[in-house]
Amino acid sequence: MLGRRSPQASIFDGDQIYLGHVGRNTFYAFLARERHRLFRDEDFAGLYHERWGRPSVPPSTLCVALLLQTYTGCSDQEASERAAYDQRWKVALGAGELERPFVKSTLQMFRAQLTVHSEEMRLFEASLEAARRATVLRRDGQVRIALDTTRILGRGAVKDTYNLLADGILRVMRVLVRQSRQPMEEWARSKDLAHYLGSSLKGEAGIDWDDDQARQALLGQLVSDAERVLELARRARGGCAAGSADEEQLVKASEVLGQVLAQDVERKSGDEVGIRKGTSAERVCSVHDPEMRHGRKSKATRFDGHKLAVAVDVESQVITAVDVMAGSAQDDEGSLELAEQSQQATGLEIEAALGDCAYGSGPNRERFEEAGISLLAKVPAQRRGEHFSKQEFEIDLEQMTCRCPAGQLTSKLCRHGYQRDQAGRPIRLRQVFQFEAAVCAACPLRPQCYKPDRREGRRIEVTGHEGRIQAARAWQRSPEFERFGIERQVVEHRIARMVQLGIRQARYVGRAKTLFQMRMAATVANLTLVAGLSDRRPTHQSGPTWSTRLATASLTPFIAFLANRSVDRWRSRPTTNGLLRRRQELIPAREMAAFRPRF
Ligand code: SF4
Repeated sequence: MLGRRSPQASIFDGDQIYLGHVGRNTFYAFLARERHRLFRDEDFAGLYHERWGRPSVPPSTLCVALLLQTYTGCSDQEASERAAYDQRWKVALGAGELERPFVKSTLQMFRAQLTVHSEEMRLFEASLEAARRATVLRRDGQVRIALDTTRILGRGAVKDTYNLLADGILRVMRVLVRQSRQPMEEWARSKDLAHYLGSSLKGEAGIDWDDDQARQALLGQLVSDAERVLELARRARGGCAAGSADEEQLVKASEVLGQVLAQDVERKSGDEVGIRKGTSAERVCSVHDPEMRHGRKSKATRFDGHKLAVAVDVESQVITAVDVMAGSAQDDEGSLELAEQSQQATGLEIEAALGDCAYGSGPNRERFEEAGISLLAKVPAQRRGEHFSKQEFEIDLEQMTCRCPAGQLTSKLCRHGYQRDQAGRPIRLRQVFQFEAAVCAACPLRPQCYKPDRREGRRIEVTGHEGRIQAARAWQRSPEFERFGIERQVVEHRIARMVQLGIRQARYVGRAKTLFQMRMAATVANLTLVAGLSDRRPTHQSGPTWSTRLATASLTPFIAFLANRSVDRWRSRPTTNGLLRRRQELIPAREMAAFRPRF
């Protein structure tokens, strides 16, 4: 059942004893001041049974621990140990000197509960509320948000087709063995699959990798074993209760192996198989994390994993929304949903969304326009090698004419096939302005305009988004564009801050848990921003109640005695009346550098 933190602070709490020593301008001190307002135990009551069981570790304490873990980048075990022995953590958590607030498994269970019930949004929303309280984020009116994406390297190992197939086979074998309750080696030997239990199939295959036939034979063996294992899984599934956990595990493992077979192997004549050429965007590149995808952040930068999408309020620099997409997703995918999430989380109307040219496609502009949000993004540059690009032609949509760089005008509009979606289905008719062949043939700019082997005149396509693109180009030439450049940088700075908090590498397997990690990083990035700004402006003090403060004041000599004994015996002992004052005034000034937060 739900355990609650006592509203009455004790004079032996970490923040009462060590606050001055740790430093009042640190993130730890900020959490000590604000934790009562950031998280309330009642908000997490849905994760616990109403009556059954012993009272849990207060969820508000675990929330602060998760923030500290993200801030310091430590493991679950280390988080548990720091909460027990580290004065900075004791200050932030308000834990007693001899208290061990939680063990590793408690933190893991709590994180799993938050992820399964999508409750981690509460932590992120708490950071937005803290920003509002500190008047960093406005409470009403309109905001401009900047959008961008960055890569996240996946947690799973990325392997080639041979090892992917071997990993997939082993994964199904593990589920089958667990259900058969036999020792793994015995089961594998009985099915002639023991060679998959080694550390590396390719390493142990012992073939000449320059020999095509040997490679072909190994691939054939792998495919045949994969099909045999899938058949075993199909039969085992027949013995499982419908909807049971056993059936679910079998289905998941079989699906991954089936997907690897379908994406990487092609059937040739007879029983011959080969490795499929080319890579689809949906290719599973890791059996350990089947949600990882091959992605590109630019032409030169390739990665395997996921893509993080971030929205930031350009005025306050507060992160207003994050999302995790497939690594192969286009940057503008889900950008409108991200803007809408920002709107919902902040309660503020989005005046404009700012993005780089990856957001500036015609269909994306249309989506934002339909949602009533202004999208400010550069028009992607259209390159045509050495020839004139479309940008160098003037299209007049009112007169429906097109003027070329040589000054020739055409109003001849022709049909030119259909625009198709990814599945090859026709979406809309394509139209082009057609210049006369004779005019182009006599033109001195002909070699710079289009390929020499074409006999027809130059064609310029007119899309359904031409008006939007032209308006965007006009905005790019206006003085307003300079402001856009400055404001848009904010999101890059905030992504850099999140990279400092470890988002470049996924800590967990799967997109849902990676999203949890990203939300934690965004929460800490927001709170450290607020803490840094709060240091420079007077804030309302929170934390111990008036009665605690009274008790603390009256017991000052006693606390000073304890603190002096346990914290810094080496220090020459001042008169007890002056000790607390000395802690508050002298120690932070000298030791600030050691504990200065990375705001
Ligand atoms: S080749 Fe045709 S379209 Fe190109 S510049 Fe010359 S006249 Fe214009």
